[in-house]
Amino acid sequence: MPIIDQSFRRGDFVGGEEILAFEKKVSQLCEVKYAVALNSGTDALTLALRLLDVGSGDEVITAPNSFIASAAAIVHLDAKPVFVDVLDDQNIDPSKLEGAITKNTKAIMPVHLTGRMCEMDEIMDIAEKHSIPVVEDAAQSIGSKYKNRPSGSIGKIGCFSAHPLKNLNAFGDAGFLTTNSKEISEKAKLLANHGLKTRDVVETFGFVSRMDTLQAVILNFHLDNLEAVISRRKMNASIYSEILNPKFVTFSKARDYALDTFHTFVIQVDKRDALKDFLASEGIGTSIHYPIPIHLQPAASELKISEGTFPVTEKQSKRILTLPVNQYLSEEEIDLIAKKVNYFFEASVNG
Ligand SMILES: *Cc1c(COP(=O)(O)O)cnc(C)c1O
Repeated sequence: MPIIDQSFRRGDFVGGEEILAFEKKVSQLCEVKYAVALNSGTDALTLALRLLDVGSGDEVITAPNSFIASAAAIVHLDAKPVFVDVLDDQNIDPSKLEGAITKNTKAIMPVHLTGRMCEMDEIMDIAEKHSIPVVEDAAQSIGSKYKNRPSGSIGKIGCFSAHPLKNLNAFGDAGFLTTNSKEISEKAKLLANHGLKTRDVVETFGFVSRMDTLQAVILNFHLDNLEAVISRRKMNASIYSEILNPKFVTFSKARDYALDTFHTFVIQVDKRDALKDFLASEGIGTSIHYPIPIHLQPAASELKISEGTFPVTEKQSKRILTLPVNQYLSEEEIDLIAKKVNYFFEASVNG
């Protein structure tokens, strides 16, 4: 690719103008003052919590149905993940949030799962009442909006992934964080780059969490196309919404005050595994995000949270199925997949 050659000819492998250009573009997109390019969404979350002084003995509230990285970031700071069950739309239930707050709660980390933003007004009200900072896990929600505010712009810090499977995708691992705080953005840059204040002066012991310049080149290219990617996904989702038979298939309804970007299109159904097998036999690949809730993972056994603690999450984990929604699928393909799903249920009712 010529854009990659150009960057290599400049000798930019770490840092450089492509990184700065990416940070500028993405901060504009997210309507924040600062963006810091990083190597992954996971490191964005870990750095964000570290910058809020999360440490040993602290608690961070998050959702039990997220990708494992949300909880891992908390655990790696010697803090304890405290989970709050979710709503029908798989996002954290604000009515259960306050009950999870203790004197040790150091941050609240809502996860905008599937590219659908959480009910942020309610979450922010509770967080502000208790003076607890909010870190948005926006890894799945680049470009999503809630009441005209982009994801990553509402909490103190927004954390994004640009993993190849996300809507804005690098050719490998990449991520970034967003904030309106100059102090946080500067500290994030410092920590992500060995704590180097200048070439030779180390202000604090840091990490290597920088974004590769190569990935920034790719992301700058992909950012120009993001709006088109999102609008294709929205269209695919709206075709599903029209065709899927609500008698058998449940999915989140669009809210007139929010823009969902459909990192995934998730349905909730009975006989989920049989439907998955049937679709596979028809050549249609589906997946499950995620089949085992975080609190029931072997890695979380030390938290000693028993089955039944988060009934909505646990029930959904047996009923959710992610249908293909990506921008490369044609309207006809989406139409066909939706009709196959309906057929599976209609045939089993009739036969
Ligand atoms: C992908 C993802 C992450 C982690 O991002 P990486 O870039 O893979 O490290 C964190 N949280 C959620 C909700 C994700 O989907």
